[in-house]
Amino acid sequence: MSAPILLIPIALEWVLLITTLAPVALVGRFNTRPRLGLAIWFGSLLSAGLATGLALVVAIWSYFDTFVALEASLFGDSEWFMALAVSFGPWLALLLGGVSLVLVQQRLEPLVQTARQIKPAVDQAKQPLLNFMGTPVFAIDLPFAYAVAGRREIMVSSALQNVLNTDAFAAVLWHELGHVRGRHFGLKKLARLVRVLSPTMAASKALVLEVERLCEVVADDYAVRNLGNKKAPALESARAIFKDSAF
Ligand SMILES: [Zn+2]
Repeated sequence: MSAPILLIPIALEWVLLITTLAPVALVGRFNTRPRLGLAIWFGSLLSAGLATGLALVVAIWSYFDTFVALEASLFGDSEWFMALAVSFGPWLALLLGGVSLVLVQQRLEPLVQTARQIKPAVDQAKQPLLNFMGTPVFAIDLPFAYAVAGRREIMVSSALQNVLNTDAFAAVLWHELGHVRGRHFGLKKLARLVRVLSPTMAASKALVLEVERLCEVVADDYAVRNLGNKKAPALESARAIFKDSAF
């Protein structure tokens, strides 16, 4: 039986997937179920370790296959060269897998670091303002119109209530609630991750722009539906105040 060389790229793909997604998808998710979190963390790391081991075993196995094939044929004849050429495959796959793993890690590391540094600063600066349809709204001390939706919260600038009338302020909150209910934060994050991992691909740039644009359309629809025809124009008057910054 010859070595199942195809297992090498599959195993490496798995390692790539785990090491890429775990820091993004798993960090901070299991505060209420720490045991489950630990099990998933160690389970995925263990599976990545086993996959690496499997790839190495298959590569070494194929090395011995090559050795046997080289022994069986005459030095320098076509079969000998063929066996030698085929033997490079697994090592090439291992090398490419290793290189892409390093590249992905290099791109992700600063991203994760920045998020870790920014979050406590934002958490400290935000003040609870009100509760909008079950979603907490926080104010950040900024002198201009600003609003953004997080995973489960809405943040607005302290100046926002002063520069918008009541209807326009409500329209902005409905729009942001549309982002929260539609889980747009996660979608945008995922699209940006793809962009960071494949920065040279035009498709990934288009993906980010398109996801962001579509999220805005969905949030506007949600706001208009909940505002009703009479108050829907308030959304447009709010947008005029935001000028070129989005909300
Ligand atoms: Zn928006």
